[in-house]
Amino acid sequence: MEPSPLFLAQSLLRCPSVTPEEGGALAFIEGVLKEAGFEVHRPVFSEPGTPDVENLYARYGSDEPYLLFAGHTDVVPPGDASRWSHDPFSGEIHGGELYGRGAVDMKGGIACMMAAALDFIHGDPGFKGSIGFLITGDEEGPAINGTVKLLEWAKGRGERFDHCILGEPTNPNQLGDMIKIGRRGSLTGRIVVEGCQGHVAYPHLADNPIPGMMRLLSGLLSEPLDHGTEHFDASNLEVTTVDVGNPASNVIPAEARATFNIRFNDLWTPQSLEEEIDRRLREAAGNTVRYRLTMNPTNAVAFLTPPNAFVGFVADAIKAETGFQPKLSTTGGTSDARFIVKDCPVVEFGLVGQTMHQIDERVPVADLDRLTGIYRKVLDAYFAAAS
Ligand SMILES: [Zn+2]
Repeated sequence: MEPSPLFLAQSLLRCPSVTPEEGGALAFIEGVLKEAGFEVHRPVFSEPGTPDVENLYARYGSDEPYLLFAGHTDVVPPGDASRWSHDPFSGEIHGGELYGRGAVDMKGGIACMMAAALDFIHGDPGFKGSIGFLITGDEEGPAINGTVKLLEWAKGRGERFDHCILGEPTNPNQLGDMIKIGRRGSLTGRIVVEGCQGHVAYPHLADNPIPGMMRLLSGLLSEPLDHGTEHFDASNLEVTTVDVGNPASNVIPAEARATFNIRFNDLWTPQSLEEEIDRRLREAAGNTVRYRLTMNPTNAVAFLTPPNAFVGFVADAIKAETGFQPKLSTTGGTSDARFIVKDCPVVEFGLVGQTMHQIDERVPVADLDRLTGIYRKVLDAYFAAAS
């Protein structure tokens, strides 16, 4: 009898694995996967200035094709535990829903991946191919000792993946709504306009940086960056803060600062975007505004897994299990998929995200069964197509 997704999810929810604590979650997964015949590794990564983090890599089989399940067992803190209807680490079921921090983001998803993989292997232990798990304990935190290093570590061992499913909660309202086939990139920049402080009654002796900042920001926002692409919304620039910090009404300030963040689509790289920002600012500044621009380094590039047979396996499995034709989306924030996509195509599909990071995070038990059914059908189709 293979463990049910509910048993697996409950067991994981009872591990208090708030980043960077392992909390017993990876040890539990290790035990279950080893029992099923997986080779399991538990690399620990360190970096000065950040806590050490435990991770897990497991593989069953040595043949191609290699399908990788990816995710994280760390969770965000529960907040005020007394505001939860049920203890956030007790894995209680009430009204057909399983409560706990990580229920949807994303211990529930990991439980379904495991249940599906174990069931598939149980039915065909000698199948041609490999199934792997790449589970990090550092997704919700600084994300330094997690997926990036784990992928490097796996590559160092000669591991090569063909496709990956990342089990983040991708559905906005109900299971089957949405697959993510890409993500936008993110880039942050800071502008400082230098003026000269002085008395408001003697403006000829001062140089107010605020009108200059207004010109620069207008220049940045004057035209849309683009109009979107086949699979992406238009790139968007948001000014997130403008700071002068001047408490006096009779003083012209010395300096004005602003920060902006851009969520960009596959028409841009961080480099091409920086050039465009630079061009717009120079044009707006002319010879009159003195300013400095600094762009924060970013590893959040835009990526797309073009709809292909693999995306089709996932979409068909969702349709068969839920009746919904999932939307292929690239919306939302960044995820660890941006690192994995350097090694193999990634699609993201998991539970319904509505309660993630909230008080009373919870998942309908029925969703755990249906998501397991979906992953199970993906495994069937994936390895049938290869043999
Ligand atoms: Zn997550």
